[in-house]
Amino acid sequence: MTLLDGKKTSEAIQQEIAAEVAEIKANGGKVPHLAAILVGNDGGSVTYVNNKVLACERIGFGSTLIHYEDTVTEEELLQKIQELNDNEEIDGFIVQLPLPEHIDTEKVLEAVDPHKDVDGFHPTNVGRMVAGLPAYLPATPAGILQLLERYQIETKGKHCVVIGRSNIVGSPMSILMSKCAYPGDATVTLCHRNTMDLPHYTRQADIIISAVGKPGLITADMVKESAVVIDVGTTRVPDATRKSGYRLRGDVDFDAVAPKCSYITPVPGGVGPLTIAMLLKNTLRAAKSEVYA
Ligand code: NAD
Repeated sequence: MTLLDGKKTSEAIQQEIAAEVAEIKANGGKVPHLAAILVGNDGGSVTYVNNKVLACERIGFGSTLIHYEDTVTEEELLQKIQELNDNEEIDGFIVQLPLPEHIDTEKVLEAVDPHKDVDGFHPTNVGRMVAGLPAYLPATPAGILQLLERYQIETKGKHCVVIGRSNIVGSPMSILMSKCAYPGDATVTLCHRNTMDLPHYTRQADIIISAVGKPGLITADMVKESAVVIDVGTTRVPDATRKSGYRLRGDVDFDAVAPKCSYITPVPGGVGPLTIAMLLKNTLRAAKSEVYA
């Protein structure tokens, strides 16, 4: 069994990006600049956004954090998005989700210029991804592709079972794994909360990608020998022995499942660290006008 080390892979990708930024700087080019809009003070969102800004600083990007109270109006937010769309200094920007209920998330995501949509959530980028055109890919599925590629895992003709159909992970993951490309070219089954008899599908899987958020959902009897298991699930469970009072658990019963696998991601330290690396990579691509030439 090989552990898929997301931390190490993320560091390698970030080093590659930092080297490119250093070269851009040395040649007098424009340094990539990422902006992030954060609404409210939800602990998880604040941590995620701060980590993104810190990562920008570490690899030499410019960064701007725009923080609103959760009382901000939809109109104010849309106005700021328009400003960022028009600001030539900003190559890409993200709106951290979730947004408060009084704000229409779809409307906000559609207001982002697709050329600057480095989260890959705008319908134009989603459509381009489905059509196989150059697009900003959402960071988590793109990170999983990187893991498969860098560990040279065979995907062609394999049966890949994706569990969870969210717009940010499961749905794009299922589309990308079905494309005639590497990694991809797999036969894909997409399972979700209304799938009858989930084990029936997972037992046939050469590759399982679980993005649900239910610790212990995937047990050893659901996994065939030598399967590749990618665990996206990240759930905080109470743990009095930790200073934070919680620890992170994936969807997979790791201790029982790992011995059966050819490859498996740990939680934490698997898929999670790749998300920031792929956001930075998208921002670099935006600065280089690689997606929309
Ligand atoms: P979500 O929370 O929006 O939806 C969960 C999905 O799971 C739904 O599509 C639902 O149909 C499916 N589901 C629920 N119960 C199920 C069951 N019993 N059997 C089969 N399917 C079931 O999904 P999300 O936003 O993609 O998040 C999923 C998990 O991935 C969460 O734990 C989240 O924290 C984590 N996540 C991690 C990263 C990262 O590591 N970078 C990024 C995004 C999400």
